[in-house]
Amino acid sequence: MSTALPRKVAVLGATGSIGASVLDVIARHPDRFQASVLSAHRNVEALVALCERHCPQLAVIADPALEAQLARRLAAAGLACEVASGHDALTAAAASDQCDTVVAALVGAAGLDSTLAAARSGKRLLLANKESVVMAGPLLLQALAEGGGELIPVDSEHNAIFQCLPGGRPDLRASGVRRLILTASGGPFRGRKRAELAAITPEQACKHPNWSMGRKISVDSATLMNKGLEVIEAHHLFGAPVETIEVLVHPQSLVHSLVEYVDGSVLAQLGNPDMRTALAHALGWPQRIEAGVAPLNLAATAPLAFELPDLETFRCLALAFQALRAGGDATTLLNAANEVAVEAFLAGALPFLSIADVVEGVLTELPAQSVVDVETLRERDVEARASARRLLAHACR
Ligand code: NAD
Ligand code: MG
Repeated sequence: MSTALPRKVAVLGATGSIGASVLDVIARHPDRFQASVLSAHRNVEALVALCERHCPQLAVIADPALEAQLARRLAAAGLACEVASGHDALTAAAASDQCDTVVAALVGAAGLDSTLAAARSGKRLLLANKESVVMAGPLLLQALAEGGGELIPVDSEHNAIFQCLPGGRPDLRASGVRRLILTASGGPFRGRKRAELAAITPEQACKHPNWSMGRKISVDSATLMNKGLEVIEAHHLFGAPVETIEVLVHPQSLVHSLVEYVDGSVLAQLGNPDMRTALAHALGWPQRIEAGVAPLNLAATAPLAFELPDLETFRCLALAFQALRAGGDATTLLNAANEVAVEAFLAGALPFLSIADVVEGVLTELPAQSVVDVETLRERDVEARASARRLLAHACR
């Protein structure tokens, strides 16, 4: 048993898939962690249920129109926690002394400000919200350097790489690292060709073979844009040049990623596909804590398989590499275009294969510019979304 006070953990995006996993780990260690801030977008019922279970100091609902309802429901449940609402309240919570650890588990660019705020205020940042790195990687690293906090990646691939590197995030060249190899499950449509993907529905795309996740990342996994976003994420988080990052399809999702060294050694991190492993690693680091994850039984698994990704069918992965090579804010544009296209696909307004067309169209229409500051990036994000919507209207005609 630790004698120190429990770490105060803000779970931003508590009602989501990552939120549920991290709260499960936190609840296993009441002596070490307290969920001190919980947030949700619009689901008051789910947020109240989590507050009843975890008794946070602060509950934040992103939609201001729902604050009064949340306050009434919490009071009726006899809970004394503070209530706040809106995007700025979420950002303020990430920087406040109501937490010393922030789990960035919002989905999409909406997570950028709270992620930056946590980095700038020196918290331990458990980063799930990959879109904020893709959108503003250099600014996030700058905020971390200024704030003196620590970022522990919880995307399973990046957490695996973090575990396989000496001392977390060292200089890769000086450490003798030759390649970072990100594994990809290949998603639900692995092995299919373009013609077989024309009529894919949102329900089919969201049925991931190994992981249970939110709808946006599930679609990204089906297009392989998720792996593309992760390549960009790895580039920033580990300072890895694009030519040193490779993607390998591994359908079983047991090897979460690998690091190859110049002496020919390849270190990998393995485990069952359960996000609680990465989350427990990041919460407890540098110690190891129980995660509730079943032990990996390698003798009972099929032989581990690996293959190269099919970049012609899954063009989104090639587009992500293209944006990373283009440099500047091209990845901000890629992310914005993808968010708009995925939302349209989930709403039944865009065919599956057109997601890549919209992203490619935006990258063609808007040449990359250098990254200046967060305001400029936000303007570029808006510009890319407008361009994507114009292309959508065209694609759906
Ligand atoms: P999810 O859709 O299940 O949950 C998203 C959470 O964010 C919810 O709590 C929702 O209320 C909140 N949210 C959504 N939009 C918001 C907005 N505009 N303002 C404020 N709050 C908002 O998503 P998820 O699967 O938990 O993924 C969360 C993030 O973690 C994503 O960036 C995803 O790429 C990343 N990630 C997820 C997994 C996974 O296994 N689910 C694995 C690796 C990385
Ligand atoms: Mg991942």
